[in-house]
Amino acid sequence: MAKLAAVAAAILMCFGNSSGQVVAVKAGKLVDPESATVLKDQIIVIRDGKVEAVGHNLPIPAGTQTIDLSSETVLPGLIDCHTHLADGTHGDGDPVSIFRKTAAQYALESVPNVKVTLESGFTTVRDVGTYRALNDIALRDAINKGYIVGPRMFVAGAYVTITGGAGADTGLAPDIQLPWDMHYGEANSPWEVRQVIRKLAHDGVDHIKILSSGAVLTHGSNPKSQEFTLEELQAAVDEASHFGLRVESHAHSPEGIKNAIRAGVASVEHATMIDDEGIALAKQHGTYLDMDIYDEECIQEAGRQGLMPQDFLEHDRQLGQIQRDNFRKAVQAGMKMSFGTDAGVCPYGIAAKQFAMMVKYGMTPMQAIQSATINAADLLGQRDSLGSIKPGKYADLIAVSGDPLADVSVLERVEFVMKEGKVYKQR
Ligand SMILES: [Zn+2]
Repeated sequence: MAKLAAVAAAILMCFGNSSGQVVAVKAGKLVDPESATVLKDQIIVIRDGKVEAVGHNLPIPAGTQTIDLSSETVLPGLIDCHTHLADGTHGDGDPVSIFRKTAAQYALESVPNVKVTLESGFTTVRDVGTYRALNDIALRDAINKGYIVGPRMFVAGAYVTITGGAGADTGLAPDIQLPWDMHYGEANSPWEVRQVIRKLAHDGVDHIKILSSGAVLTHGSNPKSQEFTLEELQAAVDEASHFGLRVESHAHSPEGIKNAIRAGVASVEHATMIDDEGIALAKQHGTYLDMDIYDEECIQEAGRQGLMPQDFLEHDRQLGQIQRDNFRKAVQAGMKMSFGTDAGVCPYGIAAKQFAMMVKYGMTPMQAIQSATINAADLLGQRDSLGSIKPGKYADLIAVSGDPLADVSVLERVEFVMKEGKVYKQR
């Protein structure tokens, strides 16, 4: 028996070495965000889900499956650094509606969210919180095991929030007891913050989402306020670092933004009211700004259709334009910028609409593409495996007709999607 097993192992090894799945992609144009150039007539050789070689007129081994994208522009798979894919169907925008469904319903309703996200060209997301704690972990793992189709997910598990704060389920009478998974991330001292982060790390999250100012889409919350003290935010960053986890902080208000940067977060989400001091601090600390400047369109549209609570619309009034103006300022100041849309505020699958908005507010098309590729990979700590089409990295690639550097909106019509060497969409 032992001998048979050894022979079988040898055959398997042989098989693995010589016939690992090889695919060659012919790219008419190839966008390289690392060198900020567009290469012509490239061959990408892919073996076992990873890029093995890229170059002009590379020899293609006989019998290799070839995918012809010679009339298209090929780009690295896109990365959205701010999604909420585990929040079920795109609903009425009201967090209170969460009480009408079980956690299982939410998880299953999220299956189409991840599929449409992948098919729109986003092969990776950093998912930054769910109102039913740990649903995002279930979704991530179901994708990785091949039960469902979706992007590579890096998840937060829950919101680390003060009681009644931006990440809490609010708007209820005080005598209503919430189930465990709706207040999992609540913390009100440095030690409670550490305790929550220890639980999240144990449960297998990939990063930590904390909220250092009030929110637009939360009852009883003021986006212009500050939440958590500097001491609590420092405890979060320090405790997360013990587990090798990075922290991102939701922040609209100037003080909430600056406290988070001083505490050492990897990125500030929204960064709506960032002031000159905040811009200087972020530059000094190397903090990424992850500004969701498209979703204002969806909030106001939902308001026109009567689908958005009045207090949310009140919060949102004027903040949208302030954020866009500050985005332009941040671009001009040469800040580190990543691509994050707050997907879930807008319907899933339309995240690429933000590219045109980023160009409208000061980025070049190449800068906008970099924000969703190499910058996003850097923010995730995944520069060695994601963000560009280079040997050793995952074979995540997309293709579009037309030239995204002349008209970035062509990214809204992705025709080809490959994740880890497997094709999920082809025209
Ligand atoms: Zn968000």
